[in-house]
Amino acid sequence: MSNAPAPLRETTTAWESALSQLEAAADVLGLDQGMRDLLATPKRELTVAVPVRRDDGRLEVFTGYRVHHNVTRGPAKGGMRYHPLVSLDEIRALAMWMTWKCAVVGIPFGGAKGGVVVDPATLSQDELERLTRRYAAELLPIIGPEKDIPAPDVNTDDQIMAWFMDTYSVNQGYSVPSVVTGKPLAIGGSEGRTGATSLGVMYCLFMALRERGLEPSRVKVAIQGFGKVGAGVAMVLHDAGCNVVAVSDVQGGLYNERGLNPQAILRHRREAGASTVATFPGADRISNGELLALDVDVLVPAALEGVIRSDNVDTVRAGIIVEGANGPTTPAADKVLNDRGCLVVPDVLANAGGVTVSYFEWVQDLQAYFWSEDDVNGRMRSVMERAYAEVSAFAQERDLSMRESAQVIGVDRVAEAHRMRGLFP
Ligand code: NAD
Repeated sequence: MSNAPAPLRETTTAWESALSQLEAAADVLGLDQGMRDLLATPKRELTVAVPVRRDDGRLEVFTGYRVHHNVTRGPAKGGMRYHPLVSLDEIRALAMWMTWKCAVVGIPFGGAKGGVVVDPATLSQDELERLTRRYAAELLPIIGPEKDIPAPDVNTDDQIMAWFMDTYSVNQGYSVPSVVTGKPLAIGGSEGRTGATSLGVMYCLFMALRERGLEPSRVKVAIQGFGKVGAGVAMVLHDAGCNVVAVSDVQGGLYNERGLNPQAILRHRREAGASTVATFPGADRISNGELLALDVDVLVPAALEGVIRSDNVDTVRAGIIVEGANGPTTPAADKVLNDRGCLVVPDVLANAGGVTVSYFEWVQDLQAYFWSEDDVNGRMRSVMERAYAEVSAFAQERDLSMRESAQVIGVDRVAEAHRMRGLFP
């Protein structure tokens, strides 16, 4: 149960959700209207045309965005996604969540996000490279190791980061690995970055199980999204002895009460040349809606925002939700879950392992001195466990939900940085 004012109306966009969460945190903190406006307003937003020569000679123009929500605590940091439903409002929300996330785990970055309105599955590899290079070139005025450091997100990967880094470096005249994170190891990537978000989700999930007195080997887990985050979570949980009973991607899901083997699903997808997990034999096919409603102990949404809403929250039966995705639960659904006693580990905490190791990658690049995987994972684990403990203790002290607590901690740290720096002029 929570004592913070919570919105009752269903929000329709991620940006509305982000603003409503900020309002709730500002109420708890008693922030004045000026500070609320400052924190609600993105520092800068860039919309760019991304012209691409298609393989058949046609010229096609895509739209790209990059939003810096807040850079008071350090350079802007956040992923870039390629998706047909990308909008400026969505990127704004994701940038704002990055600001709070970096503050919650105490790393010295501000929040950013970027995206291109495109379905990358419709592009050849060469077209994807040209799109990425032109998008990077259009962002040159606002990116850089001290300004804004992009990273992978939905439908982007280490190869795309490599093209991005190369485009920036060619324009500078020398190699600048620290301009992006999530790069291949060969050009200054960090050990442990690929699986970092998933590992961080697992650390949070284990802390949540401990709070509820549950044994990892006795819980059933359902995971929505089988991409970089979701498939990684499935694998680390399976290896840790949890029973992963359901996974899904955009085309549908799989359910087996006795448990799934994520490695076998990945192998099947690769060997069958399938674009989906849903054709894997030896499990029942289910829809994404059915996955969210399964009788499991833990649900890990790891796909897109706004999947748990007021119109389906009553079907959700999991007692613990660990948000691998950004913004998967709308504020109205969140309130229903809290009132019901469901423990929701919020995105700004649960999936912060990725940006934490991105911070380590940036530090290693700046120092040109690289750490072992054990070193990276150990440091990330201590950052995540400390952040979880802080959020949980503050939630108990103030009778807040984990999300309200994380939001209040994040917003307070950013507001404090604004107060210390003062206002120019
Ligand atoms: P990805 O592109 O690697 O994977 C996305 C997965 O979601 C795919 O399996 C896709 O099929 C599935 N999906 C897409 N739309 C869906 C839908 N409507 N229903 C069900 N499944 C759907 O992306 P990712 O990097 O794994 O990111 C997933 C989420 O995690 C996003 O919210 C992202 O912002 C967040 N996140 C990613 C990272 C990271 O390091 N990659 C870090 C923090 C948070």
